Amino acid sequence: MDLDNYIEYLLNEKSDFSPCEKLFENALKVSSTRRGMLEFTPPNLKSAKKAYIYSCGIHGNETAPIEIISDLIKDLANGSLVLTHPLLIIFGHVQAMRESKRFLFDNLNRMFNDKYKDFPKDHLEASLGKEIQDSISDFFLKYDEAEKVHYDLHTAIKPSAYKRFAIYPYLHDRDHSQDQINIMAAMGIEAVLLNNGPATTLSYHSSFKHSAHSFTLELGKVETFGNNIRENFSEAENVLRKLISQEKLDMTGKSPVIFKVKKELIRHEKDYSFNIADDAPNFTSFPKGSVLAGDKVEKYITTEEDERIVFPKGDVKVGQRSGLVVVPTAIAGRSI
Ligand SMILES: [Zn+2]
Repeated sequence: MDLDNYIEYLLNEKSDFSPCEKLFENALKVSSTRRGMLEFTPPNLKSAKKAYIYSCGIHGNETAPIEIISDLIKDLANGSLVLTHPLLIIFGHVQAMRESKRFLFDNLNRMFNDKYKDFPKDHLEASLGKEIQDSISDFFLKYDEAEKVHYDLHTAIKPSAYKRFAIYPYLHDRDHSQDQINIMAAMGIEAVLLNNGPATTLSYHSSFKHSAHSFTLELGKVETFGNNIRENFSEAENVLRKLISQEKLDMTGKSPVIFKVKKELIRHEKDYSFNIADDAPNFTSFPKGSVLAGDKVEKYITTEEDERIVFPKGDVKVGQRSGLVVVPTAIAGRSI
């Protein structure tokens, strides 16, 4: 296991994986129970106040977060980054990373909250979903008294009116965290979308099953390995490093705009008119009275100024979601 260049190790190591553990000179401990999964335990840890999970590569071709986390591992291993809180690192889909693909058979980020159980046991992404869920349970159970935090790091294919945005999973009866919104501001996150229902994503899983502060972070544009403009990710990278080493954050970041879901657009029939271009950037704004989509079952016309579309895709199967209409909302969650 090469911690100085973990990406290279993950992409090129051909031999079968065997679990390993290492104790560093400064008493930092790292253990790995499967390829792509590293658990770091700080030196002399008595009781953990916080426990962090950073996951990346859930979509194998979203390389910037993979590079950022690989560099973070290098600096933990060489001692230049000092760990204060326990940290589980997850590189989700190593095989897809090797093939520069988002996934091979099915979207791994739809396998969580036990959704993997609907698939055959030997299904690749379903078996990864189970492994990842099990590792998260083991880790968070170990630090049950700690405040649990999970950032699932992604980059997007589609352009976005807000370059960096977060998805805040549906919290049921829990409150949104202003502290976490402030941390996202420090990361340079420009918009936060409050989800309005359960999901099968990794961030919802950690939030719902483990009561973690958990988010999907879309940190910028998708690129191949080595072609990321790392300066564009520097704010997020700095914050991810400071959080685990308990360095003070620069809290001067501009507060993100908070959005809530107003309407989930569904294609009910084969004959469906969808009036948003597939390449329309996420958070494209439409004026009041715009006919966004419709079929004989339902037609959606905006009723407010500044209704925005996220994840538009008209060419979906009948019964599936073709986009989310979102509107600005007041302070995190209080008004919804
Ligand atoms: Zn992704």
